[in-house]
Amino acid sequence: MLSWFLAGKALQACAALLLGLRGHVPLVLSNHLGNSAALIGFVLEAAALVNLQESEYRTVLRRTLGVGIFISVTYCVIQHFNPHWRVFLISLAICCILLVPAGGLLSKRGGSLLTRVMGGLYFLFALSMGYRAYSSWTLGHRITLLTTNTVQSVSFMTIFLVMLVGNLGFLLLAKERDDRRLRRSAMRDPLTGIWNRRAFLEQADKMLDLCQRERQPVSLLLMDLDRFKRVNDTYGHAVGDMVLRDFCKLVGQTLRCSDVFGRFGGEEFVLFLPHAGQDEAIAVAERLRAAAEARVLLTPDRVPVPYRVSIGVCTWSAGTPADLPRMLQRADTALYAAKTKGRNQVVAARQGNSLPEMAA
Ligand code: GH3
Ligand code: MG
Ligand code: MG
Repeated sequence: MLSWFLAGKALQACAALLLGLRGHVPLVLSNHLGNSAALIGFVLEAAALVNLQESEYRTVLRRTLGVGIFISVTYCVIQHFNPHWRVFLISLAICCILLVPAGGLLSKRGGSLLTRVMGGLYFLFALSMGYRAYSSWTLGHRITLLTTNTVQSVSFMTIFLVMLVGNLGFLLLAKERDDRRLRRSAMRDPLTGIWNRRAFLEQADKMLDLCQRERQPVSLLLMDLDRFKRVNDTYGHAVGDMVLRDFCKLVGQTLRCSDVFGRFGGEEFVLFLPHAGQDEAIAVAERLRAAAEARVLLTPDRVPVPYRVSIGVCTWSAGTPADLPRMLQRADTALYAAKTKGRNQVVAARQGNSLPEMAA
């Protein structure tokens, strides 16, 4: 992305040089080539900014940028045949192109202050270009690069502002994005995309605290795929990975937004259900067990791969102090019971603080 941004800036610098040489070099070089270089430079800058944003509207933004590129090419053709429209068209084109990253930055959900400032900056720049296009139109296209008036002052001030603040802002935005990616990869399991063990424990602990303060029950499901080694041995490790991802998808379909789902290690997963009493937790576990049993995953060669899961359930009722390690230990004991009972089972530990006994 940085290379696009730098290429854009380099083209804009060439454009400034060519436009500045007006009168000393042929018009086709100073005006035509200069303006086209400026326009393509802005397209590259906008594209770099759009790509940098991990925005949910990224596809829309990219398409809009495609329209910007189309406008640029049209401009290059038109300016050749109709020089009076040059300033109007280039200002309008830059305005349209810059509105794309500005819109993306300003509309970004949960964006930082830096994102907003950069969005505002590019919006201001786009507005000034819009104003320049409008003035050029109403003044009968009498604005040129060397005209001195308010329109020109506003345009050049915003250009300098974008040059000064925008460059540093772009680097900071790139750093912000990298930090975000790093944080995400430190918390996610790379194979399945769900929380890893550390992130799960952090989030579940927070939810547990909240539920205890609200005197709400909590439940925990420890899930282990049955005879998974056999799946690997029979179909290969890659298919084993497919099964792990498929199981996560299956669980993901039933999650409420407050539930915390993580990979505990290997083929073992854990699901924390806030506000869920034992009956509800057993029902969820049974639903998941049955869904896994009914599921027949197909390999790329269309070979069916069935899989099963055993689940240990632990519930802490409202008002009794609970801690996550103890809940996990009780769920693990329940899971062990499910395995010894023949697998593909749900077993719940009895509620309360006593030693784990099995309820089902
Ligand atoms: P049980 O029903 O008692 O749980 O038997 P099991 O075979 O599932 O349990 P076991 O602990 O013997 O084997 C777990 C297997 O899970 C062994 C290991 O190779 C496999 N496994 C762990 N992590 C991964 C992974 O990321 N991908 C794949 N494909 N396999 C994995
Ligand atoms: Mg297993
Ligand atoms: Mg296991």
